[in-house]
Amino acid sequence: MAKILIKNANELITVKETEDSKIGILKDYSLLIEDDIIKKIDTYENLKDLVDNDTKVVDAQGKAVLPGFLDPHTHLVFGGDRLEEYVAKITAKDSDEIKKIAGEENVGIASSISKTREAGFDGLYESSLEKLSEQIKNGITTVEIKSGYGIDRDVEITTLEVIKKLKENVPNTIVATYLGGHDYDREMGKDAYFKFMMDEVLPYVGENKLADLVDIWVEDSIYSIEEGKAYIQKAKEYGMNATIHGDELSDIGATKMAVEEEIYSIAHLNFITDEEVELLANSETVGIVLPTTDYVKDYDGRLADGRKMIDRGVTVALATNLNPGNWTVSPSIVLDMAAKRHGMTPEEGIKGFTLNAAKALRLDKEYGSLEEGKKADIQIWDTDDYRNIVYRHGVNFIDYVIKHGEIVVDRTNCK
Ligand SMILES: [Zn+2]
Repeated sequence: MAKILIKNANELITVKETEDSKIGILKDYSLLIEDDIIKKIDTYENLKDLVDNDTKVVDAQGKAVLPGFLDPHTHLVFGGDRLEEYVAKITAKDSDEIKKIAGEENVGIASSISKTREAGFDGLYESSLEKLSEQIKNGITTVEIKSGYGIDRDVEITTLEVIKKLKENVPNTIVATYLGGHDYDREMGKDAYFKFMMDEVLPYVGENKLADLVDIWVEDSIYSIEEGKAYIQKAKEYGMNATIHGDELSDIGATKMAVEEEIYSIAHLNFITDEEVELLANSETVGIVLPTTDYVKDYDGRLADGRKMIDRGVTVALATNLNPGNWTVSPSIVLDMAAKRHGMTPEEGIKGFTLNAAKALRLDKEYGSLEEGKKADIQIWDTDDYRNIVYRHGVNFIDYVIKHGEIVVDRTNCK
């Protein structure tokens, strides 16, 4: 039986609420892992008799120990990048000027659709492996990955097959999402593409169990409330629940619909109304805030109001929204922006990136907090105060990442 003892952590952050802390910080506690499970959390004095010759002991004095992060909203599988576009946008004023400076035929989603169509299965698989490796080195042990740069049948399915192969070959836990409703095929037109997705692609994805969830972008400029609802209801016929992109650019009632349809989560929320905040707070649906997207896209300063949503009782999760327009891997950057721009304290940020993110994926029975019986997904940071992740933004404090009871990242030799 493989055993690891994490000994005498300065801060053992369980993310289980206690009287003094929203994230249950235990001082000088130890944690014993047996196989892939957290077996015991106690003082070293009470655990030391369980240590045998096969137990690996990790000294965590002066360190912070936390659950692995869960990233509940990413578009991690895509072809190429949008580096030229990102840089061109710094000075360009409109999309024609961006295209000219960037030397690109298309910008935005259209650019990534053509690059994803060109990349092929192997190209998508290899580049995704690199991104997942970067994520786990930053403490992200579980990730939701969407399709959505095929906007057809074949490339959407290829993307989901890439995600399936990744699930089988990487340590990270992966949740696969079919995001056919990220855009529509311009030649087909929106109505015909929506019908095609509903009649041909979604049933294929469902029957072949290629996705755990579905996703659609519900806004006044893309899919309507009625279309979103029909798409979600169809997915449920195949046993898939949903997450949606909504209330990013308009307040057409995406959150209200998400709550009524009892879906797992809704992301963006820049335009959520007070009435919808109330509805969301009284539901099981999780609100996902995407700080680096709000930073990159700006929305004329209209940020998702994390502070207000938490104060009114919404379960708020954080995500990187890793995608070609917003290449974010660092939880430190997300957490600092969540703090300084969205009003979320470091403890609310940590909870948003662990337990609340697990709730957004309905994985919270096994993941998202350090509790006896849960999966041993753990990160050990070389800092005595976890709030340094916000204060010293951009630093990667990780010594070790443990996934399902195995040390998969060891950075102690990098120092
Ligand atoms: Zn997204």
